[in-house]
Amino acid sequence: MAVGSELSTSPVPRRGLVLILSSPSGAGKTTLTRALAQRPDWGLELSVSVTTRARRPSEIDGQHYRFIDRDAFEALRERDDLLEWAEVHGNYYGTPRRPVERALAAGRDMIFDIDYQGTRQVRGKLRDDVVTIFILPPSMAELRRRLERRAEDSAETIERRLRNARTEIERWSEYNYVLVNDDLDRSFKTLEAILTAEHLRRERQVGLDRFVEALLAQPDAAAG
Ligand code: 5GP
Repeated sequence: MAVGSELSTSPVPRRGLVLILSSPSGAGKTTLTRALAQRPDWGLELSVSVTTRARRPSEIDGQHYRFIDRDAFEALRERDDLLEWAEVHGNYYGTPRRPVERALAAGRDMIFDIDYQGTRQVRGKLRDDVVTIFILPPSMAELRRRLERRAEDSAETIERRLRNARTEIERWSEYNYVLVNDDLDRSFKTLEAILTAEHLRRERQVGLDRFVEALLAQPDAAAG
């Protein structure tokens, strides 16, 4: 998909940002997060969470999550190795701190697929570097269809996720952007537009002073 990636070619250095996507299970957030992270020209590094949830058949350890047991999770938490953590649908999930610190220090962007509890914690810690997006399903019926189509969870898990979906949807107003995902391609383009706009925010372009100063120091070009 062609994108106006003026930022990757911009001469002005900028700060890295943290892009957080949240939604109830089944709204398409994981598909969108991964599609964005796979665009090499956008340089978005995916934050791989640790979780105590059982691995789904299609998931790869270390790529979708790092699957660990409760003791290992608690050890990470106690060592303060997690930037945030939360209990979601009866399992623990957390974001390893070090990869995020490394990416931001190097001016790279990271993308997170985490819930509203984690979003609050990350926003509290990283403040201006955080951009949050909430993805809504077009309807509750469609949410159920998507969860059932995935066919990787038990009927009981699906019912639990649908019950929790309402609580999660109620958090929409805590996010910077909200989009209804009724078409994956359109949502993908919208997310790219948000990222482009956020890159161009004045306060994020840390080299702007120097760039403008050098620009104004240039002589007027001769009339062509
Ligand atoms: P799933 O089990 O379907 O992969 O994820 C369930 C929920 O946990 C999703 O809302 C997902 O965004 C959230 N989640 C995944 N990783 C993390 C994490 O590291 N921290 C938090 N707070 N939530 C997470």
